[in-house]
Amino acid sequence: MSTFLVLDVKKIRLILELRESGISDSKILSAIEKIPREKFIPENFRNQAYDNLALPIGDNQTISQPFVVAKMTQLLEVESSHKVLEIGTGSGYQSAVLSKLVRRVYTIERIKNLSIKAENIFKELKISNIVTKYADGNLGWKEQIPFDRIIITAATSSISKEVASQIHDGGIIVSPMVQENKQIIVRYKKIKNVLRSEIFDDVLFVPNLSGTQ
Ligand code: SAH
Repeated sequence: MSTFLVLDVKKIRLILELRESGISDSKILSAIEKIPREKFIPENFRNQAYDNLALPIGDNQTISQPFVVAKMTQLLEVESSHKVLEIGTGSGYQSAVLSKLVRRVYTIERIKNLSIKAENIFKELKISNIVTKYADGNLGWKEQIPFDRIIITAATSSISKEVASQIHDGGIIVSPMVQENKQIIVRYKKIKNVLRSEIFDDVLFVPNLSGTQ
């Protein structure tokens, strides 16, 4: 079988696996089906593009596991009119999935090389509703406030004041949080200017670091 067909079969299997693991939103499954994950992965790992695994993308970083991308997207409860901020562009895959579901995605990456690579893939895939920025994401993106949703894709022990202040009242922030030596996905809802948290699955992300590189 050609590599192309093998990837297609694996993709269908992955979608079924995600559905069985509780990803019930068909719009999210369809967005995952539309985005070619193999484009966001170094050539030598492309045959694993549709395995439910995080994979290395260079610069000591990883592309998130498809289940985690799907789960965090589902927790974000996005709507087609939404403006979303992502902190941690990495490969660009999570942004690309979100781009099929919302009006515009603003994504920040602190490693220049990764930010440039992701932007080139968005161009190649003709995705025009993602705006990239090379900066420390913990400072947020104040020129574009307020955001309807914020997704952080690097583990952190606290949400910065700047980021917490850049979400709409009624908005949602989803982030992997470090708590007692493990990482969990936390969803915060901003209600009357207070962030209320709910805890979800255990995860494993690279750390959220300050400054740029
Ligand atoms: N969403 C990515 C996951 C990438 S891993 C994907 O779909 O591939 C997390 C990324 O967050 C890494 O590239 C890391 O460099 C970046 N990161 C960590 N701390 C950051 C910060 N403070 N600001 C911006 N990016 C950050």
